[in-house]
Parts: sequence; structure tokens; C-alpha cells
Amino acid sequence: MINFTVGPVQSSDAVRAIGAEQVPYFRTAEFSALMLENEALVKKFAKATEDSRVAFMTGSGSAGMETAVMNTLTPADKALVVNGGSFGERFVELLELHEIPFTQIRLEPGKALRPEHLKQYEGQGYTAFLVNKHETSTGVHYDMDLISSFCRKENIFLIVDCISTFLADPFDMAGLGADIMITGSQKALACPPGISVMCLSPRAVSRAESIRCKCQYLDLKLALKNAERGQTPWTPAVGILRQINARLKEIDANGGVEAEITRTAHLAEYFRGKFKEYDLPFTIVSESLSNAVTPLHPLTASANDIFLKIKDEYGMWICPNGGSMKDTVFRVGHIGCLTEADYDRLIDAFLDLRNKGFI
Ligand SMILES: *Cc1c(COP(=O)(O)O)cnc(C)c1O
Repeated sequence: MINFTVGPVQSSDAVRAIGAEQVPYFRTAEFSALMLENEALVKKFAKATEDSRVAFMTGSGSAGMETAVMNTLTPADKALVVNGGSFGERFVELLELHEIPFTQIRLEPGKALRPEHLKQYEGQGYTAFLVNKHETSTGVHYDMDLISSFCRKENIFLIVDCISTFLADPFDMAGLGADIMITGSQKALACPPGISVMCLSPRAVSRAESIRCKCQYLDLKLALKNAERGQTPWTPAVGILRQINARLKEIDANGGVEAEITRTAHLAEYFRGKFKEYDLPFTIVSESLSNAVTPLHPLTASANDIFLKIKDEYGMWICPNGGSMKDTVFRVGHIGCLTEADYDRLIDAFLDLRNKGFI
């Protein structure tokens, strides 16, 4: 199978080889050193300030989203949240569950965030802003400069879910003045699912220190205290943290985050160029694309039927959509260990489906 979804994605041979090894005991100086190296590389790739901190939470990306909400916001906050799809909706549900007052900026699927969406909220006393930098469900990549300048002007605490865009599109945490950056192990980090990585500004750390978290397992104070010596409060997903270490070092050795973004952008352009060249009956549904994924609306067949055909008859996974977009949108991912030759095979499969009159 070739995997063109947005997670889990294909891992490099070095990362896979670690998955075959025994999981080592971890309360050791060796594992602590590996964790401190992970922290340093995450900070470097996120372009975080030197005094930022990193927490590795065992759980998928959603665990990082909930950790951020529970540990840095309280009912005394007034939050703004961008809701342009299912991941924006997840932040909305978390704010409801944890009783944080909020207003949502609802966007139609595929629509970009524009200055007029924010203008009406100026000077209204908002204290926190939550956004999924790349709303993966619809493939919309939001304008972070716009959000950043709004938050700076209003002195708003900024939480950014970068889960599918970290390492795929540029992100400058310090330059944007972002307070929390969240990513997950199974997206562009291209490791198995199970670890959520959080990078925290000093302002985020001090918020976490002053708030009593009502969940022991996701208590950031405990995570950060232990992280000072490269450890975690509980047994983490040790094997995945070792795979993350190999992957981060692989990126560092191959030209760093810029080179990784360029590689991903190149694959995205290659695929987008090919499907236009062959005039396949799909249209792109996002106004603002990330390098991580191409969201497509098929004009002549059901998106879910195409997903099933490609899986069952051609041995490849493209990414289906759920809910109301089940039949109208599928996505082709560009993160993970993929090559141009892989996209050639996918394009051949689409051409074959067209020859057979299926699309
Ligand atoms: C994948 C993803 C998540 C997290 O999903 P999990 O299934 O919990 O890993 C959150 N936000 C975005 C934007 C994502 O792409």
C-alpha cells in the first residue's frame, strides 16, 4: 500500500527500524539526554525563543489540544476561536467542556480568514485566540501574520494547533509571538501516532503554573517539572520518542526545517501540476492551500467511492472526508516519506479510472 493520507503517514527506514527494536528502560541518563535533544530540535524547528519550553504528552494530537485548553485557560478568559472545519469544531467543544467563555469565527468550508473577520472583535477584551493553522479537514491554511498582528495589538494569548502543518509550511513561533504550538507524531513528523508535542512560550509556562489543572495525567506543571531533567511524570510512549529523535536528527542533517518544507512543497506542486496536466475531473476546494495536502472535489463521481476504489483495486490510500463532505471531498497528502514515483502511480490509477468511465 502507498499511503497518501494525512496521518499516520509513511515513515523513513531509520524510523521504522527503531520500531522493530525492544523498548528500553527509560529512567536513565541516556533517555534523558535523548529527550533534551528532542526539546532542543523542536524549539529550533518551531523557531521558538531560547526561553521557551517543550512538553511531550503521550496521546494523539487531540491530547495536546486539550492539555493547552485545560492548563492555560480559565473561566475568567474570553476566547476567540476560528472554526472552519472539524478541527476548529474540536477546539469549540473543548472550550465548552472546560467552561471557557468564547466566540467562534465560523468560516464556510474552504474559505480563508480575512481581515474583516477579525476587525469586529477589536477592543472587545478578548484574552485568548485559538486556531488550527492548517484546518486539515478542508485543507485551508490560515494567514498567521494576520492573526499574529491582531493578537499583538490586543495583547491576546495565542494557541496554535500546527498538527498537520509543522514541518510542512513555514512557522516562526517567536516572530508571530505565538504562545503555544502543538503538533503530533503521526503527521509531518512521520512517526507512529501516540505523542503530542507542545512548545510553550514563557507566557504559556507562567499561565500553566498559575492554573490548577483538573486532570492529573495532562497536568502541564508536572510535565514541565519533569522535562527539566529530560523526563516525564508517567511512562511515555518511549519507542515513539526514540523514533521522533531519529526523525528530528534526520531533518537536521538534511538541511533542517527549511529543506524539509521545500521537499514537501515540491511534492505538492508535482502532484498539483500532474492532475492539471492530465485534466482530471477534480477541482481544488481550498482558497488557501498548505503544502501538506491537496483537498479535491471530484466532478463526476462520489469522493468516498473513489477512495474505496483506490484502496481496494490499486493498493493506495488517499484520505477520505467524513460527515457532510463524505461524497464531495477527498484529500491527497504530501507529508511523510513519499516520492514523485509514488504520485505517478496515483495519477496512473486516476487515469485508469477515467478510461474505465468511473470518473
Ligand atoms: C490530525 C490533527 C489533529 C489531531 O488529531 P489526532 O487524531 O488526535 O491526532 C488536530 N488538529 C489538526 C489540524 C490535525 O490535522
